[in-house]
Amino acid sequence: MGRQPLFRRVDFLPQVTYFKPAGVPLVHLQEVRLSIEEAEAIRLKDIEGLEQDECAQRMRVSRPTFTRILQLARQKLADALLNGKAIRIEGGNYELAVRRFRCGNGHEWELPFEVMIDQPPALCPTCNTEEIMALWPWRPGGGRSGGGRRHRGRHNWQTE
Ligand SMILES: [Zn+2]
Repeated sequence: MGRQPLFRRVDFLPQVTYFKPAGVPLVHLQEVRLSIEEAEAIRLKDIEGLEQDECAQRMRVSRPTFTRILQLARQKLADALLNGKAIRIEGGNYELAVRRFRCGNGHEWELPFEVMIDQPPALCPTCNTEEIMALWPWRPGGGRSGGGRRHRGRHNWQTE
């Protein structure tokens, strides 16, 4: 105990989170688990093509940490592809760049990653109720808050 989990900042949640090789019977199927921050590392480096320093900054981790996350992620993907394993993308220690909350009285507000990590909300800033929940982010659509339209699904979020 005593060790605080380190949250990485993530801009994107993949829509599809399970990949299965064709023609492998389920009983023989092994699975590789890619965390959300590992997926983000791959996305920043290999899809957006950013330099490692930039990637590290985006995820708010040190450069060596980013390198480690990326290497592990690539290893897992290679293992899955070449050894015919399924890939499941889930879990990890991450927070989204912007998180939207709603209280039991219908007030909604947003908090940026930096604030969330520092001090997760316990009360609604408008009515002070403790009955609050995080709304699952609207994705994709590329943008930050801008078009905050419809939120699908909810996600119960506990302040430890
Ligand atoms: Zn409220």
